[in-house]
Amino acid sequence: MTPSDAAGLKALDRDHYLHPFTDFKALGDEGSRLITAADGIYIEDDGGRRFLDAMAGLWCVNLGYGRQELVDAASRQLQQLPYYNSFFKTTNPPAAELAETLCGLAPDHINRVFFTGSGSEANDTALRMVRRYWALEGQPEKQWIIGRDNAYHGSTVAGMSLGGMAPMQAQGGPCVPGITHIRQPYWFDEGRDMSPEAFGKVCADALEARIQALGPDKVAAFIAEPVQGAGGAIIPPESYWPAIKEVLSRHDILLVVDEVICGFGRLGEWFGSVHYDLAPDLMSVAKGLSSGYLPIGGVLVGDRVARTLIDDGGEFHHGFTYSGHPTCAAVALENLRLMAAEGVVEQVRRVTGPYLAKHWKALERHPLIGEARSLGLIGALEIVADKAAGTHFDKTLKAGETCREICFEFGLVMRSVGDTMIISPPLVITEAQIDELIALATAALDETA
Ligand code: PLP
Repeated sequence: MTPSDAAGLKALDRDHYLHPFTDFKALGDEGSRLITAADGIYIEDDGGRRFLDAMAGLWCVNLGYGRQELVDAASRQLQQLPYYNSFFKTTNPPAAELAETLCGLAPDHINRVFFTGSGSEANDTALRMVRRYWALEGQPEKQWIIGRDNAYHGSTVAGMSLGGMAPMQAQGGPCVPGITHIRQPYWFDEGRDMSPEAFGKVCADALEARIQALGPDKVAAFIAEPVQGAGGAIIPPESYWPAIKEVLSRHDILLVVDEVICGFGRLGEWFGSVHYDLAPDLMSVAKGLSSGYLPIGGVLVGDRVARTLIDDGGEFHHGFTYSGHPTCAAVALENLRLMAAEGVVEQVRRVTGPYLAKHWKALERHPLIGEARSLGLIGALEIVADKAAGTHFDKTLKAGETCREICFEFGLVMRSVGDTMIISPPLVITEAQIDELIALATAALDETA
């Protein structure tokens, strides 16, 4: 691409394209970065500069870029049957096969899937299913959903309401009623006056207290990501999930696990729920299901909820034009086949996850880093002003954003959430590429300091 082609495209983009999560004015005359190609774990811009994509796009390109098998799967399906709906007693081969494959990968008690086009739609669907379930069970007053502060469950009105992102909820009008949020298990920022284990239990006590305040017979479900992603790669203390599970089961409250980031290998198991032994009633999935090559999501429904919806529910008045889209399903199927054939999940659990953990942790020796945490192939660095006290810089200094921009200059894509730097690389990253990632991150931190 010539420099003038690129400049022209950037001008078109700046003048016409309203980007997600973007301050349009702040783009200025320079506009957006133009990404034009990608291969493996690297992306390339219009000037031919390569960047190690330590975010796998947006936590999704799990198999990496440039997989011809996925292109071929899409191409075959586009020729055979590009689209047909799965409403009104019709289905299509890839969607049916994908449903069976997904249930085979999920824990044993999960045997049904509802397909969507995205993670947000999946969480909208889960919300409607949960409320409908309790109505069908003769407990229509069991309608409250408890989520967590700073969680991300998508950008639709229901996704935004289930999530706990204050800036999102401050815009665009009221949230869906009947949703409330409890504290997040963010030990580094909120719990360092006690051990992580004690803090995990304190967070579960907050769930118990909220259930008591609402009335246990009024609470339908708790929704959470196994590891909070967009909130800052928040890995809960080991005590957290067992204590949360105990509270939920004591009050007969459904568990909806948002697997949109953690699903499909990120934590070294097919699902984050398996890593933490969560046995959820519903799991929402998207992103890594197709390695991001085409948009597809879904809700995996456990037997308890599925039985009631199917046996007692009649028609569920819900669905999307692209539910079970044959081409997206064909790509997802091929993606899962490749992941299984290449042992990608085992590689994360046995090799690259532990390798990252060891070398990432060493970044705590850097003067700017208060904590370096990781699990599987998700990780975070806490940038601090005072290492001993673990305090962040004044917000106005935007240390995280500065570091992210310096990372780009060094050829590395990391994400900043406040002063937390995040990685979630393609699951096919090698040990040598992890070394490269850490060397680039170290150089960028040195420059930020
Ligand atoms: N849930 C989680 C945990 C996510 O991280 C995201 C997106 O980042 C979503 C849901 C929303 O998915 P989508 O952007 O596909 O609607």
